[in-house]
Parts: sequence; structure tokens; C-alpha cells
Amino acid sequence: MDQWTRLDPIYDSEAAARTIAAAAAARADAQDHDGGFPQDDVADLARLGLLAAPVPVEQGGAGLGTEPGAGALAEVLRLVGYGSLALGRLYEGHVNAIQLIARYGTPDQRSRLFADARAGHLFGVWNTEPAEGGLRVEARDTDGQLLGVKTFASGAGYVTRALVTARHPDRAGVAMMVVPLEAGTRADLSAWRAQGMRASATGTVDFTGLAVNAGDILGQPDDYFQQPAFSGGAWRFAAVQLGGIEAVFDAWRGHLNRTGRGGDPHQLARLGEGAIAVEGARLWIERGAQVASDAGMPPARVVAYINLVRLAVERAGLDVLQLAQRSVGLQGFMRGHRLERLARDLATYLRQPGPDHALTAAASEILQADAMAGDLWTETAA
Ligand SMILES: Cc1cc2nc3c(=O)[nH]c(=O)nc-3n(C[C@H](O)[C@H](O)[C@H](O)COP(=O)(O)OP(=O)(O)OC[C@H]3O[C@@H](n4cnc5c(N)ncnc54)[C@H](O)[C@@H]3O)c2cc1C
Repeated sequence: MDQWTRLDPIYDSEAAARTIAAAAAARADAQDHDGGFPQDDVADLARLGLLAAPVPVEQGGAGLGTEPGAGALAEVLRLVGYGSLALGRLYEGHVNAIQLIARYGTPDQRSRLFADARAGHLFGVWNTEPAEGGLRVEARDTDGQLLGVKTFASGAGYVTRALVTARHPDRAGVAMMVVPLEAGTRADLSAWRAQGMRASATGTVDFTGLAVNAGDILGQPDDYFQQPAFSGGAWRFAAVQLGGIEAVFDAWRGHLNRTGRGGDPHQLARLGEGAIAVEGARLWIERGAQVASDAGMPPARVVAYINLVRLAVERAGLDVLQLAQRSVGLQGFMRGHRLERLARDLATYLRQPGPDHALTAAASEILQADAMAGDLWTETAA
């Protein structure tokens, strides 16, 4: 039996994340090239139990993310993101997939796919696709085959269990399914010439010709987009971003100490502003994880809150980047300086879908609510 087949009942996910983050930080510069991938770090995720951790306890995992307030998951995502944003992105996709399977899978799908996670398969969630040529199922009687591609798919060529969305002829709406993939196949990373997050292997995957049958399909049509889970899940990528923000902050702090420039009042004032931004983001994440796992809050209110969380964390990230680059100066733009890659990775990973809409949708919900401002996020569903 593999050493990570079933987690110990007292498994410590935070301790595992700290160990993995330290090793990932040491390896991240070497992986920072077109086509790079944190292969050894993903092996650590498997070896130290974090791939199995989000699996429910009764199915051999640690139930990471199901604890009250999702505080342990928030810490794990933050820590892994601190070590490497590319690894954090991959791990967040894995956690998202396991949570979707737990929510929508049949008992058979759950036991089969959770066994795969415990055996060390890396999962991903690939929803983004081009306007033309996106993924669809072509039906042949009861079974069908896939046609088309997914784009901006992290871990392309490395993820061996891909949770994808696809249009289905027999289903009014979008179907969700987990497709087994062989490592090193069907992936095209040639368009991923990004400023940062080079090691996330974010590419195009062509599924054309792969068979799919009714038993592969998770849940009902459009379940993937059910609220508040769909938009509310954004707190998880924001938690990973928080780790990246903290890493930039520490690179900046380290530079000031090393160069003896920290005592200057302008430098101190900027560092103080940065500390406020970092701590503000941390508090948003802590509360966001609680709100997202609060079954009693009306779904629209959860979504509005998480929209604010992701924008507050994005703002904190942009502020810390600007302050750090102003404080460190040109040195921070030189390859080999710790800040240089961390800043590129963070600036890239802060780009998430539809930020304008997230802000105005949250504002609309707030505008029409009856509650006093201080009670907006404590209301329970009628
Ligand atoms: C490192 C990385 C890894 C990723 N991995 C995955 C993955 O594994 N799976 C996956 O599915 N996706 C993945 N993505 C893609 C991600 O989910 C988003 O699709 C992507 O980040 C969108 O970024 P964008 O800035 O282009 O967003 P956009 O939504 O295009 O936003 C760009 C700007 O346009 C505005 N805007 C948006 N829509 C409109 C409109 N209709 N009219 C006018 N303005 C508009 C926005 O408010 C914003 O100002 C990844 C992205 C990154 C950066």
C-alpha cells in the first residue's frame, strides 16, 4: 500500500504546507522559465498528504476545507502560495476539483475519484475556453466523445484528472465531468509566454476523440455554476494570492534590512503602509473563508462578500507591489533579486476574471439590502 493511501487521523495539514512551502521557495527560481513546472513540489504535495487532505475523512482524507470556518484550508493555501504562487495555483485547482466531486459526485464517482487523489493524481479544474472551438460532447447513442479545447488550463500535460465543463447535446446547459489524462499528452504550452507564473504550465489542452459516458458526468446541467459555491469559491485563489503578497513583502523587508536602508523615515512609512495592506488582506481572507462556508447566509450575500474579498486582496497586492518596487528601486527589477520573480508572479496571478463586474455586482447587492451596514454580513437566510 502506498504511504499516502490513507491519512493519519491526526494529520497536520498546516505543518505539511510549511514544509512544502519552504522547499518550493528554494526551487522556484529554477522553475521560472517557459515550460517550467514544479514537479518535485507536486511530488511533495502527494508524499506529505496534501493531495489527499481535501478528501473527506470517511474516505481516507483529512476533510481539509470542511472544518468550521475553513480556517485550516485558508492557512494551507496561504502557505503554499507563499512558497510558490505557481504551486499554489495548481494546489487550489486540485482542492476545487475535490470539493466539486464531494458536492456533486455519486457515491461511486466519489469513491473512485477520491482513491485517485489518495494515490497521488493531480486534479485541475478547467473551465476557460476560447470563443470558438470550446469543449463539447458529441453524443453517440448513450456514450459520446469529446471535441474541442480548454485554454488557460494550469498543469496542462501534468494534471492527470481534469474536471472540465462541456456543452452536451442531451443536456440543456453545461455538463461537468472528470476526464482521465495521460501525463505529457494533449497539452500545448506554446502560447504561455507570460510575464510571471511561468512554472504553472498554463496551456491549451485538446480533448478531441476522448470517450465519455453518462457515468463520467457529475451532477446536473449547470451545477458547476451554482451559487454561492461558484463565485464564493474565489476566496481560495485570493488566499493563494495572499501568500504571494506576503512573499513580496518579506523580500522587500529583507532588502531594507540587508542594505541598512530601513531606518529612513520614508522607507519606514512605506513599510508601515505595506504592513497594513498585508494584514488587511489576511483579515479579509479569514472572514471570507468563514462567510463562504456559512450555510446560513443568503447565497447572494455570500457572493457579494467574496467579490469584495477578492477585490480587497487584489488592491492589497497592487499596493504592496508598488510600495516594494518604489522602496527597493532598480535592484528589485534585476534578475536574481528575490523581489523580481516574486513581483512578476504576483502581478500575473492577480489577473482573475471579471473584476469590474465583481465590484459592481457586490455594490448592487449592498444597495438593495435593508440591513444596516454593520449587519450586512451577519444576516441569515429567511
Ligand atoms: C496563472 C493563471 C492560471 C490559470 N489557470 C486556469 C485554470 O486552470 N483553469 C481555468 O479555467 N482558468 C484558468 N485561468 C484563467 C482565469 O480563470 C481567467 O480566465 C483569467 O485569469 C482572466 O483574466 P483576464 O484579466 O483576462 O480577465 P477578464 O475577465 O477578461 O478581465 C480583463 C478586463 O476586462 C474587463 N471585462 C471583463 N469582461 C468584460 C466585458 N464583457 N466587457 C468589457 N470589459 C470586460 C474586466 O473587468 C477587466 O478589467 C488562469 C489564469 C492565470 C493568470
